[in-house]
Amino acid sequence: MKPHRIDSVLFSAEQLSKRVDELVDQIALSVPQGNLVVVGILRGSFIFLADLMRALDRHKLHPRLDFTTLQSYGSGTTSSGNVSVLKDICVPVEGADVVLVDDILDTGRTLKFAVAHMKNKGAKTIHTCCLLDKPSRRVEAITADFVGFEVPDTFVVGYGLDYDSYYRELPYIGQVVLED
Ligand code: IMP
Ligand code: MG
Repeated sequence: MKPHRIDSVLFSAEQLSKRVDELVDQIALSVPQGNLVVVGILRGSFIFLADLMRALDRHKLHPRLDFTTLQSYGSGTTSSGNVSVLKDICVPVEGADVVLVDDILDTGRTLKFAVAHMKNKGAKTIHTCCLLDKPSRRVEAITADFVGFEVPDTFVVGYGLDYDSYYRELPYIGQVVLED
């Protein structure tokens, strides 16, 4: 890890909590609920997803839940990037209304892959929900159906997001600033 500090708090715990409630209201309004399956993309989504799941109860939504671990190999070896499945879902999603949940939409490779993967498994509808969106970094033409906050092109941590596997436990979203 390069020398760094966690600088400004971009989103406080209170702001995150309020936004999660708003996102769940949107999801409850626009996602078909007949056969709802929420799929979290690990590992960054785990705290966001836990809060989202509990908030769904307010709308009397009772989804099934599963996780998939995806790994994205971006810059370096290939120009197009390459996503692989480290751990697949176990809940069958054929004919289901799937909501994919990720921490942050960056290049878009991970989410694009995840949507295609759910389609291959026969999901009836697929909606996507990302806590954060960094549109300036997009490589794939993809937007999420539900977005918590847009962020500038800066590296952020906390509320599940990591820098080299650290800082996931922070209850807020902070900015990583490299120091020399
Ligand atoms: P994408 O495939 O480039 O959209 O990558 C999305 C994944 O990259 C996210 O699920 C995160 O794990 C990771 N990521 C992208 N930007 C950040 C960041 O600022 N902080 C922490 N993780 C990030
Ligand atoms: Mg991630």
